[in-house]
Amino acid sequence: MRTHYCGSVNESHIGQEITLCGWVHRRRDHGGVIFLDMRDREGIAQVVFDPDTVESFAKAERVRSEYVLQIKGFVRARPDGTTNDDMATGKVEILGKDLTILNAAETPPFPLDGYVDVGEDTRLKYRFMDLRRPEMLNKLMFRSKVTSFIRNYMDQNGFMDVETPILTRATPEGARDYLVPSRTHAGSFFALPQSPQLFKQLLMVSGVDRYYQIAKCFRDEDLRADRQPEFTQVDVEMSYMDDEAIMNMMEGMVSSMFSQLLEQDLGAFPRMTYAEAMQRYGSDKPDLRIPLELVDVADLMDSVEFKVFAGPAKDPKGRVAALKVTGGAELSRKQIDEYTKFVGIYGAKGLAWIKVNELEKGAEGLQSPIVKFLGEEVALNIMSRLGAANGDIVFFGADQEKVVNEALGALRCKVGEDLNLYTCDWAPMWVVDFPMFEELDGGALTAIHHPFTAPSCSPEELKAAPEKALSRAYDMVLNGTELGGGSIRIHEADMQKAVFEILGIDEAEQQNKFGFLLDALKFGCPPHGGLAFGLDRLVMLMTGASTIREVIAFPKTQSASCALTHAPGDVDSKQLRELSIKVRKPESEKKEG
Ligand code: ASP
Repeated sequence: MRTHYCGSVNESHIGQEITLCGWVHRRRDHGGVIFLDMRDREGIAQVVFDPDTVESFAKAERVRSEYVLQIKGFVRARPDGTTNDDMATGKVEILGKDLTILNAAETPPFPLDGYVDVGEDTRLKYRFMDLRRPEMLNKLMFRSKVTSFIRNYMDQNGFMDVETPILTRATPEGARDYLVPSRTHAGSFFALPQSPQLFKQLLMVSGVDRYYQIAKCFRDEDLRADRQPEFTQVDVEMSYMDDEAIMNMMEGMVSSMFSQLLEQDLGAFPRMTYAEAMQRYGSDKPDLRIPLELVDVADLMDSVEFKVFAGPAKDPKGRVAALKVTGGAELSRKQIDEYTKFVGIYGAKGLAWIKVNELEKGAEGLQSPIVKFLGEEVALNIMSRLGAANGDIVFFGADQEKVVNEALGALRCKVGEDLNLYTCDWAPMWVVDFPMFEELDGGALTAIHHPFTAPSCSPEELKAAPEKALSRAYDMVLNGTELGGGSIRIHEADMQKAVFEILGIDEAEQQNKFGFLLDALKFGCPPHGGLAFGLDRLVMLMTGASTIREVIAFPKTQSASCALTHAPGDVDSKQLRELSIKVRKPESEKKEG
């Protein structure tokens, strides 16, 4: 139906007759001449109709925004003074000859001929129109370039694309499962995969050697910001490669992707242990673009009278840390109050601070509500440890270690953003040597990565002191966002059973849930490892989008539903009967009904 995309018409086509198909982006009537901006996936071209082509001119008068047209005409150079350098097609226009209206359109729910800020509810309800906006279509196009790049890279490095089941059993990744009732096995349920983890490990046992898949994963998580119940992972697994080789392979992919698709050089990917990341940045995904660091000062505070500091300083599970912001003395009281509220989100009970006005005057030169409680000597010792200078502000966190890390870690990023302290555009890194387990509130242990991650010690050492064990897990972090994570896996049944035991999974449950894995590990499982990248997050970072919803064609709302199709929806009682399911309405709905 067409010879060219609107967006691809240029000076090389001058003099040619072409046919375009697309939407009316904008229509202008200029004293007897009608201009139609025609839009398609590739861009916009200007078509001119003059009254000489009587029939087409009459049709051009009738068309409205978003009508679908086919237009035949001649490409010509735009007259002097009317070229538009901002448009890829701005040097040419098409003198329209024939116009066919392929379809009419009602007035769109929001204008498309210029970016207008529309509420997300409306955008998601009319997602098919929202995606028609060039900004959105360009993001989808970019996403497609990313996946195509990944497939090529994987192909060139000998990876096989293998599909794994969607109807399966629970794969523990720390979230709730989405369940699918089985009709043929009344009362039994499939789980949608939280990741293809166990299948990709089994593929290593089968000899696939290098596997990848661009896989949909499903996690029914509590509604935290910017998560989607279904999302896409670039899932990878390889045999006979150690941690370093796997990290290098994946780093190669991400670096060359940034350089080819964005012309950006990511530079080196430093490796940092989890312990160091927590200590210096209060986070296991530090944003290394920001040159601020947490500094421990508990040893200077443990004998002050001020309990807020002395308490956590003496508590083995506590932490007292300081964050110096160079030039931060300019922050207003109001801003400091806002930061105090901000750290409250992470459980901090307050935010102590010292502004360094005139250090040469000793305590008198320090402006702060807390110096009087610390005493001059302690305050000055802290300043000297931090290398503080006039014009700086120092924030403090004193609480349980977890609270201090989370609060000051988040504050570090917030201040870095607010004061634009970034030292570079991209800061990639790997975080390594994570602990194997973390303690839940009741004292039980849970796997930090997943239970199939190999520890860096023997099963005996692991059982003797599980809380001290480190894992062979690694996370790739870019600008403070975790892009991907994975690990060397357990490839021996004994070790796998030791981990299950520590996690409180008894023999019967091991057999019931993971019998197939334990079997597979007994039949010659090669050493292997892998990781998974969050594709949505990667594309978000690369396009500068503000949420992952902007780079997913049909995302769910913040409350895990689809504004377009109204999923999840009711099903009729016959269907439920077939599935042997009886629905118990939540109490809240019973009262209303
Ligand atoms: N399956 C893991 C996840 O989804 C990634 C990996 O270990 O490969 O987080």
